[in-house]
Amino acid sequence: MIRPDLLLHPTPKGLYCPPGDFYIDPVRGAVDRAVVTHGHADHARAGHGAVLATPETLAIMEARYGEEFTTSRQPVEYGETVEINGVTVWMSPAGHVLGSAQVVVEWKGLRMVCTGDYKRRRDPTCRQFEPVPGTHVFISEATFGLPVFRHPDTDGEIRKLLDSVAMFPERTHLVGVYALGKAQRVIKLLREAGYNETLYIHGALEKLCKLYEDHGVALGPLETATLDTKERGAQERFRGKIVLGPPSSFHDKWGRRFPDPLPCFASGWMSVRQRAKQSGVELPLIISDHADWDELTDTVREVDPEELWITHGREDALVRWAELEGRKARPLRLVGYEDESID
Ligand SMILES: [Zn+2]
Ligand SMILES: [Zn+2]
Repeated sequence: MIRPDLLLHPTPKGLYCPPGDFYIDPVRGAVDRAVVTHGHADHARAGHGAVLATPETLAIMEARYGEEFTTSRQPVEYGETVEINGVTVWMSPAGHVLGSAQVVVEWKGLRMVCTGDYKRRRDPTCRQFEPVPGTHVFISEATFGLPVFRHPDTDGEIRKLLDSVAMFPERTHLVGVYALGKAQRVIKLLREAGYNETLYIHGALEKLCKLYEDHGVALGPLETATLDTKERGAQERFRGKIVLGPPSSFHDKWGRRFPDPLPCFASGWMSVRQRAKQSGVELPLIISDHADWDELTDTVREVDPEELWITHGREDALVRWAELEGRKARPLRLVGYEDESID
């Protein structure tokens, strides 16, 4: 078997494939050819030459960056193979957000899989993670790569929100959610839990909610939460309602105008009590689009690669865990990603 380093290796611009001459999720500057795992800003940047990604990811990039985000888009469906300079590339679902994919790279009998961000829990807004059999080198994210991170049952967190809405009918529940993925997942989970009332969304969520609906993810009655200041008492109609917006929006003028707001935040980071407190969150909802510690370790055991490479988060604990299991593991220490991932 050839050395994996010859097929993929970390560079300052991102994970690079020398024989294929492409980068996976390059986040430092533009490159001639990029393969993109999913649409979050810490993976998908505008300005590359060719961009190979699932059709959903390309649609998300266009919605966020405009039509001109690349000179050449190359859509690949899950499971469809393409050749790039003799290297075979295909995508397997990652279960993270709509269109998210693990990138499978094959060359001279070596199969390497880069997960991008992933989770194993059910998500009614995207395809479930599919492990790739026969993986020699598994490159896993490790956003929540510490044994303290064990996300609770998601339905229970949604129940907490609905219980709070029932308990405080005079207050406006402001739910902080990232615009891509988390927003649509929380909305869909609320619908599944039987909440059929209109949900109010910040303008920043409109485009991506529509994009999800265009891709067959029905979100029920949504309305943009506009506050008309000229109309007296316009804010009153939000009492007892749920309003979703980007986490930052609730601290600005927009968020402060809702009557008796009850700030919530749906994120895996809400398991860190200190963070919820510091950000003024009254109702933390631990809903994550990343694998927690058990999901990470279970996935490594299931895929059972010859080598484990770890990136994008808390690498050291997972490396140590792997070594104790008798697995070959290495931290990639890729730069350019935010300290704390979008979740
Ligand atoms: Zn992501
Ligand atoms: Zn990420």
